[in-house]
Amino acid sequence: MRDVLLPGSLEELWRCFDEKPMALVFAGGTDLLVKMYNGSLDCEALICLERISQLQGVSEHGDSIRIGACTTHSRLLREPLIGKFLPALWKAIARIGSPPVRNMGTIGGNIRTASPAGDTLPPLYAMKAEVELLSREGTRRMDLSEFIHGPGATALESAEIVSAVWVKKPEEFDLQHFEKVGLRSALACSVASFAALLKLTPEKTVKKVSLAWGSVAPTVFRCPAAEEALAGKTLCLESLREAAGIVRKAVSPISDVRADAEYRREVAGNLMFRLVDIVDAEKGRKTDGY
Ligand SMILES: Cc1cc2nc3c(=O)[nH]c(=O)nc-3n(C[C@H](O)[C@H](O)[C@H](O)COP(=O)(O)OP(=O)(O)OC[C@H]3O[C@@H](n4cnc5c(N)ncnc54)[C@H](O)[C@@H]3O)c2cc1C
Repeated sequence: MRDVLLPGSLEELWRCFDEKPMALVFAGGTDLLVKMYNGSLDCEALICLERISQLQGVSEHGDSIRIGACTTHSRLLREPLIGKFLPALWKAIARIGSPPVRNMGTIGGNIRTASPAGDTLPPLYAMKAEVELLSREGTRRMDLSEFIHGPGATALESAEIVSAVWVKKPEEFDLQHFEKVGLRSALACSVASFAALLKLTPEKTVKKVSLAWGSVAPTVFRCPAAEEALAGKTLCLESLREAAGIVRKAVSPISDVRADAEYRREVAGNLMFRLVDIVDAEKGRKTDGY
């Protein structure tokens, strides 16, 4: 029999770590409990974080938004701040699993799992999000891209938790996009995913761009060379074709049960072409006065 501890405050959490130093923490359990049931992970005790209020909810702090690590995906989809300022993250969360998985799973769990297929990660990387880490000694913050070292590997130390993720409101961009290619439309891990933030002139010249891909490298993949290739150019199939060529050369995908590496490489580039339609649709929406 394994103990499951349910601290209701941070003080209780630190006491739990004293009592059970080898315990693992969890929030929704949609990753951790699956691994325990299939025998790929075991531990002497579990500590559930969901009752700690400091880890819940979304709040606005000047030009930044703090998202508590234990906020479930379903709650994030209902949060006005996410829909208004972070639509690419909203779209990514809406594609996670199924309603029961989104009701249980949390953004902190998605980040700590550090899977290259984690759906919240491409938009968070594109927005240069920071993670907030909490231990008895205090709080530290670091770039998400520095926090995640590889599949399942992070900079988290023992008796330390992810308490929040911080995102600057990306107001310098006027278009945010997320797309995921999977083997079916629901309950599918991504074969490849793509997040893009764009600022364009009325003539569709790229003024600012931030791009990130999931499932095409050991961690979320960013490509400054492709961003540079697009900067100052008109966003059209020709300019995207050049940037997509750079991306296809730079990614390092694996072959697995979902797709082979060459297919992922091709899709990583192709996902960029959608931006033409997205920009045209957005322009039409604005002209229609919505
Ligand atoms: C059927 C199914 C479908 C899924 N589909 C998708 C999908 O489409 N896209 C996707 O990205 N994911 C998917 N997942 C994976 C999972 O649901 C998500 O990664 C989810 O966000 C994990 O959150 P959680 O709270 O359940 O994590 P948990 O299972 O509670 O924890 C996951 C890991 O993070 C650690 N952890 C959790 N919270 C913290 C914290 N605050 N601080 C430190 N460590 C912490 C745990 O120790 C564990 O190592 C799916 C899972 C299932 C079972």
